[in-house]
Amino acid sequence: MLAGRHRAVAEVDLEAIRHNVRRLMRDLPDGAVHCAVVKADGYGHGAVPAARAALEAGSTWLGVATAPEAEELRAAGFTAPILIFGPLTGAGLERAGKAGAEVVAWSAPFIDEAIRLGVRVHVKFDTGMGRLGVPAHEVRDLCEQAHTGGVLSGLMSHFATADEAEMSFFEKQLGRFAKLAGELKEQYPGLLCHTANSAATLRGPAAHFDMVRTGIAMYGLAPANDDPFKDDLRPAMKFVSHVAGVREAVPGESVGYGRTWYAIELTRIAIVPVGYADGVRRALSNRGEVLVAGRRCPIVGRISMDQMTVKLPDDWGKAGDEVVLFGAAGDGVAGGSTVAWTSPDGPRLDAPETPRILCEETARMLGTINYEVACDVAPRVARRYRGESPAA
Ligand SMILES: *Cc1c(COP(=O)(O)O)cnc(C)c1O
Repeated sequence: MLAGRHRAVAEVDLEAIRHNVRRLMRDLPDGAVHCAVVKADGYGHGAVPAARAALEAGSTWLGVATAPEAEELRAAGFTAPILIFGPLTGAGLERAGKAGAEVVAWSAPFIDEAIRLGVRVHVKFDTGMGRLGVPAHEVRDLCEQAHTGGVLSGLMSHFATADEAEMSFFEKQLGRFAKLAGELKEQYPGLLCHTANSAATLRGPAAHFDMVRTGIAMYGLAPANDDPFKDDLRPAMKFVSHVAGVREAVPGESVGYGRTWYAIELTRIAIVPVGYADGVRRALSNRGEVLVAGRRCPIVGRISMDQMTVKLPDDWGKAGDEVVLFGAAGDGVAGGSTVAWTSPDGPRLDAPETPRILCEETARMLGTINYEVACDVAPRVARRYRGESPAA
């Protein structure tokens, strides 16, 4: 039991990541490969351990957003191809080249510079995301330029609505991509065409092409912020602290900054040594819940920078008990597939055998998405890994 041993810990189950990668690769067409997206420190899970687990499970590419992220992977010894998604400055492109990473390109001057540095490029086709990329006729010219310069590697796009139930725009983007990819693959055999993120990957092979790039689902989080278990994904991270102490608040006594909560009867209050500087968002004050030794208890009073307070039942909770911010209680890491949906505004799931709080649930409460809840877990929270491969 880690309760009491660490102040706050993000416990990451690497076997869950391996399971998710195998699950995501299950429906890939023959020859298509998986790019494990480990940007933003592996969505908070730790880029290096997450990358290692993904490669063990069959991923062959790694995806990041910045040049320093690529450097971190190289420093850890990974030799797999790395693709940097984000827009790069001149200095960033140079660092990408030194790290032996490939980059995304959508302008002629940038490709000139990539040719000069010998950095391979994936030309970005804007099929409707309206962010990076250029329309089809410009893509053709850029591919020819990169090809002539000996640096053409791939053609890519990105979906704007792959996680939404309404499919028409997704289909439109997919159609545009399929048409140009087909054309350009004839012209440039070996061109690596890819456009699917997690949501599109889970929709089936039509969007898979030569490679899929999945982040969120690899970590066992649901791309549409609903139920990861319905797609056989396993949440990999558990964010946990412990009860540092219990005190009794007498009627009329308040708890924490601003006196936003006070006792109307004798109430047991747990002090938990984790706060908004650790990634427990202050907006959960007097709103969110945690699992104290497996039982849901409300957060009361304001969440402060380094600690928070939780209301305990009369007969439950003592110093040293585990406090789960999200994840499953106790050792129930994976599983919990028997879910009960009890909240009208989103997932709130109480698997009978494994009490659990989903990132998705916290995200809904905060008006955001699970991506942000995972990325919020701060660097000062210790990462602990389980399911490390014997070879590692
Ligand atoms: C982050 C990112 C992905 C992964 O998206 P998920 O929704 O987390 O699977 C894929 N492609 C690009 C270009 C990205 O920036």
